[in-house]
Amino acid sequence: MLSSGNWPQLRACLAPGCVLYFAKEHTRREWCSSTCGNRARAARHYQRRKARRL
Ligand SMILES: [Zn+2]
Repeated sequence: MLSSGNWPQLRACLAPGCVLYFAKEHTRREWCSSTCGNRARAARHYQRRKARRL
């Protein structure tokens, strides 16, 4: 259980405005919570729409 090198890596949450870190237990996870995931996805979507308009 406590063998060295077996700790989950800490990762910074990629959601805009979120400064939390989370344990990277799942390789595909990029956010500390699903709420942040939704926010990050929404922000990305919004940026794309904005860029297309300009
Ligand atoms: Zn977050």
